[in-house]
Amino acid sequence: MDYPGHWQRRHLLGLEGVSATEIITLLDAAVEFRRILDEPGRKRPLLAGKTCANLFFENSTRTRLSFGLAARRLGADVVDFSAAGSSVSKGETLIDTARNIEAMGIDAVIVRHSCPGSPKLLSENLRCCVLNAGDGPHEHPTQALLDILTIRQRLGDVKGLTVALIGDIAHSRTARSNIQGLQTLGANVIVCGPSTLVSAEWEKFGVEVSYSLDAILDRADVFNLLRIQFERQVVRPFPSIREYAYLYGMNAERLARCKKDVLILAPGPINRGLELTPDVADGSHSAILDQVSNGVAVRMAALWLCLGCASRVAPDPARHDVEARHDDESA
Ligand code: ASP
Repeated sequence: MDYPGHWQRRHLLGLEGVSATEIITLLDAAVEFRRILDEPGRKRPLLAGKTCANLFFENSTRTRLSFGLAARRLGADVVDFSAAGSSVSKGETLIDTARNIEAMGIDAVIVRHSCPGSPKLLSENLRCCVLNAGDGPHEHPTQALLDILTIRQRLGDVKGLTVALIGDIAHSRTARSNIQGLQTLGANVIVCGPSTLVSAEWEKFGVEVSYSLDAILDRADVFNLLRIQFERQVVRPFPSIREYAYLYGMNAERLARCKKDVLILAPGPINRGLELTPDVADGSHSAILDQVSNGVAVRMAALWLCLGCASRVAPDPARHDVEARHDDESA
């Protein structure tokens, strides 16, 4: 595969500010990687000799495994860090932890942290590439990219499509990254959920706001059913789980009122019976497991592009400052 010369990013921190050309470049590379993943060998050692570190300060199943798998499928080595059992409990800061891990010879750090902005902070304090695997409620760029790839594969060009994001918009990084990416590619985005989780302020960003799922059923080409982020909420934003499921859960009766080729997505983990019923999650409109498969391909593309850029593009002056500071401190 030829490296696309116009990819100029060493880090993937979010989809805010990422152009349509960059997104399409990454998605096209992911399509190629998905093809390779479906071949018997499943590998292309394009990153042989590189080492990636998974730095996860929050729980993860799909993202952590698929970043690790993506790096290995490209021939890179992978080391895994979990906050539990590490020296974080002894008071070590995020930057110190990351710089110590980088000092072991790391080319890319994949970070998940509850604090918004932590990947950016690391990108300013490390020499290696930084990829955001979810920073609190802020962004989760590879999740949105794999969602968009799945939409493209099933429905074609996303431009002009209407994508509805349902549920906990207030606390969902998946929602934020999807809004950025989908709008950049020309999709119409509706956010829908209880008013305690969906701010009318989204209208200022060109997003349609709805408080009734029933009212938008026949308008959307895609429903992305977001998980209620109980772990980020201080107080429960609706009276009961039953009420939420009654008003905002996708079920067979609602599905029957949707467009006939409607696509059902969910970032996972799904709570069966809450955001959607099992028959919808496992039904013919659902692309949930395809999203997971596409996640490996998207993360291969992200690692390949960022690490490829790092080895081609000279560090910018700000990087020299960081390197000089590191050199002074280690002298
Ligand atoms: N797995 C996604 C995330 O980490 C979605 C979720 O947890 O609800 O943001």
